[in-house]
Amino acid sequence: MPGIPMRSGGQKARIAVIPGDGIGAEVTPQAVKVLQAVSRSADRELEFVEFDWGAEKYLREGVTLPSGAVELLRDEFDAILFGALGDPRVPSNQHAADILLGLRFKLDLYVNARPVELLHERLTPLRGRTEKDIRLIVFRENTEGLYVGVGGVFKQDTPDEVAVQEDINSRKGVERIIRYAFEYARQNRRQRLCMSDKSNAMTFAHGLWQRVFKEVRQEYADIESRHLFIDTLAMEMVRDPRQFDVIVTCNLFGDILSDLGAQLAGGLGLAPSGNIHPGRTSLFEPVHGSAPNIAGQGIANPLGAVLSSAMMLEFLGFRLQAAAMRVAVQAALRENYVTADLGGDKTTTGVGDWLANFVEKNNLAKQLK
Ligand code: ATP
Repeated sequence: MPGIPMRSGGQKARIAVIPGDGIGAEVTPQAVKVLQAVSRSADRELEFVEFDWGAEKYLREGVTLPSGAVELLRDEFDAILFGALGDPRVPSNQHAADILLGLRFKLDLYVNARPVELLHERLTPLRGRTEKDIRLIVFRENTEGLYVGVGGVFKQDTPDEVAVQEDINSRKGVERIIRYAFEYARQNRRQRLCMSDKSNAMTFAHGLWQRVFKEVRQEYADIESRHLFIDTLAMEMVRDPRQFDVIVTCNLFGDILSDLGAQLAGGLGLAPSGNIHPGRTSLFEPVHGSAPNIAGQGIANPLGAVLSSAMMLEFLGFRLQAAAMRVAVQAALRENYVTADLGGDKTTTGVGDWLANFVEKNNLAKQLK
């Protein structure tokens, strides 16, 4: 996804690798392998440091996010490459909440960027749609909304039980994500922006989104902007995805929309994402989770992790290498060198090796110069 604001780096780009649980631990090494292959053509070096945070460590030591971890990542690393967290042995998913939500909130990664790009027409379930019809990006607010954990239960486990979950929306939080989406559109020559909410029902919280949107859009007269209620947007994304270019929305709706988008473009195994604070240490991860049902079988699709790594390279300023990784993924799709979820019969490692060989053999980043 070209044009993510960079973190200006030194001589080396330092990457913290957190493979995590389940298929996260299987796909992440493939992404690192392709990153290593593609970075050989770069002027700057990529350095990887792996961290074993996840269910295994939590069960063994009771530790989720170790103390000092946030400061370490913030001060010593440029980016984080993340796999997935989730393990049936930890039904509460406490470790996942502490680590992933902890990093999103504590590193203030307020932009969740989820590109939806169809890379091969056979991958979409929409009849008659091709690559040029499905090319949009969803910006999900990532630090507020219903995910802040404010609320409680009253009279638990009685017939009178009441549960409250607060939806937090600050002017600062709403404004910065809407502004980021407009800036992205302008810098990447994306013509159209759609802000989506449910202000007809959620009059207070999304009334704020409406007011902020009206103010900010005035500064971006060069971008064609409009508003759709979230239910209409979900319907329109399926009916005619060509209408959409940049979409910006709140935390909950962005979560749902990006899974809808992932399916339009070939499924969860292919979808990348970035959790970004411009100019600061940011985190890149595939949209999928730990998929315990297929973990350990060597059949997980590594392309979501590889495309997330390409987003990370873009963020770090390795523009040509990012493009080379995307070209390699497109080639694998064209050749049908893919895992079972995409109709192929290759293994996770097989696809990773193929991509690494492809970028090296073709010296892709040099060719793209
Ligand atoms: P978690 O609890 O960690 O979110 P989950 O299984 O509930 O895990 P996902 O991992 O997001 O949710 O995926 C849902 C299903 O999609 C998986 O069970 C798996 O069948 C399929 N899937 C997801 N990612 C991949 C992948 N990379 N390769 C192949 N199949 C995948």
